[in-house]
Order: sequence, then structure tokens, then C-alpha cells
Amino acid sequence: MADIDVVIVGAGIVGLATAASFARSGQSTIVLEKNPSFGEETSSRNSEVIHAGMYYPTDSLKAQLCVEGNRLIYDYCKPRGIMANAIGKLIVATSDAEVAGLHDIYARGIENGLAALELIDAQKIKSLEPAIKAIAAIYSPTSGIVDSHSVMLACLGELEDGGGALVRSSPFIGAKQKNGEWEISVGGDEPTSITAKTLVLSAGLWSDKAAANVIGLDANFIPKMHYAKGNYFRYMGKAPFSHLIYPMPSVGGLGIHLTPDAAGHARFGPDAQAVEVLDYQVDVTKKPIFAESIRAYWPELDESLLTPDYAGIRPKIGNALHEFVDFQILDETNHGLGGLICLFGIDSPGLTSSFAIANKVLRRAKNL
Ligand SMILES: Cc1cc2nc3c(=O)[nH]c(=O)nc-3n(C[C@H](O)[C@H](O)[C@H](O)COP(=O)(O)OP(=O)(O)OC[C@H]3O[C@@H](n4cnc5c(N)ncnc54)[C@H](O)[C@@H]3O)c2cc1C
Repeated sequence: MADIDVVIVGAGIVGLATAASFARSGQSTIVLEKNPSFGEETSSRNSEVIHAGMYYPTDSLKAQLCVEGNRLIYDYCKPRGIMANAIGKLIVATSDAEVAGLHDIYARGIENGLAALELIDAQKIKSLEPAIKAIAAIYSPTSGIVDSHSVMLACLGELEDGGGALVRSSPFIGAKQKNGEWEISVGGDEPTSITAKTLVLSAGLWSDKAAANVIGLDANFIPKMHYAKGNYFRYMGKAPFSHLIYPMPSVGGLGIHLTPDAAGHARFGPDAQAVEVLDYQVDVTKKPIFAESIRAYWPELDESLLTPDYAGIRPKIGNALHEFVDFQILDETNHGLGGLICLFGIDSPGLTSSFAIANKVLRRAKNL
């Protein structure tokens, strides 16, 4: 008999939401994390935006899980007193050349079930955000911001309430199947091994490396990982905005957008740049490029008040920047190994989708 029902590798938002789901369903669960604490990588280096789901092709997992996850994350936060505010978002077109693309995003959003989206004109934009210069926009009332650290903390609490545990500074070394169970090697100060019925790999930027250490997993099921870095700059002056402001999407990302904060300041970013190494230093040479991009929709920007903030790195699979690539959630029906679920390419909107991904993993583990 296995030591435990479920081992999850990776304590980011997705691993923890998944662990909470398993714990809620009565399964004994542990999460292995190589770092000293949870959420120290991509889950704490993002925009903390709850997306609505208008950017992604309708049949994609990203569209389905983002739309479902948007509702689930607000529902999760409300009774727990976690900040999740639907402050609304404007995607702005600043020139005639951008209007057709804006209409395409709107049409896709409607197709994805976002009935509340509105196309608005320059006058309505001015009434919502007087400082913005744009000729047309999409208004998305269900987009918002969330305190993702508190969400992770709440999921950890649920895991522990269900008798599970986060095992810190304990890297997953590898796994092999034995008598229908997974024998899992764990590193760290006191290396050990544990057996589990279900093994979930939710290792973010390291998911290819973790999967490569599962004996018997065909390498054809392990996608090549690329990294796409995103820098953020903070605006140290007053930023007179109450909504999320997004330009039209650019190569590899959603464009250098504005996230207002409660103190009346704002954060701008991320950009998107293919990188080879995991280096979180903000590239300060990007400041003039940020300023030019922001001025397209906020001409009053004072560039001298932009200051380097932080950077995050997207785990991209497929062509790093240039093509749409969906989330991959692979189970026995894909790779033939019972009790193994592998998550790859959980870049944006992975935070928004986290509870929907968790539900999907739970259903796959139960063969539903
Ligand atoms: C710049 C940027 C902006 C973004 N903005 C948004 C946004 O506004 N909204 C949104 O919805 N999404 C956004 N995203 C995407 C979102 O942040 C991610 O999809 C999400 O955080 C992924 O969570 P995760 O748990 O899969 O990965 P991670 O947070 O990377 O967690 C994986 C964990 O696995 C651990 N791990 C790896 N290997 C091992 C091992 N061998 N043993 C043990 N542990 C291991 C790591 O240490 C890490 O803690 C953004 C991403 C970036 C980079």
C-alpha cells in the first residue's frame, strides 16, 4: 500500500490550488518544494491580474480554464476576505491601425462567453479614465486584481487542515513506477523516498527537468522549454487611474500594461523578451522603451518617475514568443503511465486559471 495518496511537485499557485483540491476530496496529499518557501518563483513574479479570457482561441484550454478560473478565484477569495477586486480593464486602441485588431479580440471574447464585454468609444473612455488617450477600447468588467500570496497561503491552510503538508527545501529528484505505485526520490538535507498513488508534476519553469527524471516517460511527451522574461517598472508619482489599462497585445505578451494600486501609484509591465537563463534582474536599459510604449496611451507620463521594480519569467513551450501555445495537462491517456499527471507551459493566464486547472487535475486523477 502506498505511503500517501498524492504527491505534488511544486508549491506555486497551481501546485497549491491542486493540493487544496485533493485535500478537500479527502486524499492524503503532500507538496514537495525545492525552495525554502512556497510561491517564490513565477507565482510571485507576475501582474496579479485576474483575466477574463478574451485573448485565447475558443477551443483552447487557456480560454476554457481562464473563463472558469476567473469565476472560481473571485468565489474563493470573497468568503476568506482575500483581496480580489473586479476593478475592470480597458484594452485600448490608440490608432486607426489598431481598431480592427481590437474588434477581433472583442469578437473572440464574445465567442468565449464573455457577454459583459463592451466596445466603447473615445468619449466613454474619457469618462472612465480622463488621462487616457485612445480612440476605441474594450471594457471588461470582470477583469481585476488579486492578492496571490494570500490565495497561496489559504490553499496551504486547506492542505494542512486536511492533514497534508508542504515539505520545504525538498526537491523532487525522480520517480519510477513499482507495483502500480510511484516510488519518489526526494533530495534536500535528509534525502528520502516515498510511495504515492498519484504523482502530479507542477514544476513551472523546471517542469521539463522534473519530467525527464520520471523513468518510463517517453521523451516525446516532454516539450522543449523556453523562457520569456518580463520586466516591470513602478511609477513613483501619482497615476490617476482606477482601471487596468492594456494596450493591444504585442509579440510574446499582452503589452506593457498599467496596474493601479491602492496608494494611487501604478506598475507598468511586463514586456516580453526571450532569454536563455533564469535571471530576475530588471533590465534598466528598457526604461525608454517602456516610456515610449506607455506614452502611446498616457501622454502625460513623466519618464523620470519610472523606477525598476521586479521581473518574472514565463515558462513557454513551443516557439518562445511568436505563436499561441496552449497549456498542456498530460495524463495516462496521453503518455500511458497510470497515476502521473504532468503540467507544462503554465504561463499566463495560469494564476487566473489555477482553481480550474486544479479541478481538471483532480478529475483526471479520478479518471472522470
Ligand atoms: C511576467 C509574468 C506576468 C504574469 N501575469 C499574470 C497575470 O497577471 N495573470 C495570470 O493569470 N497569470 C499571469 N502570469 C502567469 C502566472 O504567474 C503563472 O501561470 C503561474 O504563477 C504558474 O504557477 P505554477 O504553480 O505553475 O508555477 P510556479 O509558480 O513557477 O511554481 C512552480 C514551483 O515548482 C517548484 N519546483 C520546480 N522544480 C522542482 C523540483 N524538482 N522539486 C520541487 N519543487 C520544484 C519551483 O520551485 C516553484 O516553486 C504571469 C507570468 C509572468 C512570468
